[in-house]
Amino acid sequence: MALGKDYATQQCSIARALEVVGERWTLLVVRDALYGVRRYNDFLVHLGAPRAVLANRLQTLTAEGILEKRRYQESPPRDEYVVTERGTALWPVLLALGAWGREHYGEDRLRVFRHAACDTELAPTGLCPACGVTVPAEDVLMVPGPGLDPDPADPVSRALLKPKRLLQPIDTDRV
Ligand SMILES: [Zn+2]
Repeated sequence: MALGKDYATQQCSIARALEVVGERWTLLVVRDALYGVRRYNDFLVHLGAPRAVLANRLQTLTAEGILEKRRYQESPPRDEYVVTERGTALWPVLLALGAWGREHYGEDRLRVFRHAACDTELAPTGLCPACGVTVPAEDVLMVPGPGLDPDPADPVSRALLKPKRLLQPIDTDRV
């Protein structure tokens, strides 16, 4: 029997979500968008995804309202992709997924996420243990972890060597 291209027989909201974000590269595009990546070339150099695949994922994410395409330059026309509220709502999913990966596959610590207000590291649920609040993405400070390459080749990775807030756009022109 041929493998179906969707989960039509599944009445499940996890299956419904995976229809949108379950393809390879998709969640990594969302991750980068949360890190502040907005431009096609920045996604390309940071992810290393094939161009056609990246273009397809950006199109799907835009159609689903997870990213919003915005023109930032008229001649030549250039668009950037800004993560929406719907996309930002995936932040706790990605944080928990990363914590699961580290716990079960022993990944090195590449990034540490802290509550910007008090500098306490977040729990895998996104909760700040010191303040007792679930920290919204814009109040999360991303700090390089010990496993991070200190001398990366691409400009996005270089920009991410410094602590920065999530969602704040990355300016690779100045790196
Ligand atoms: Zn806190």
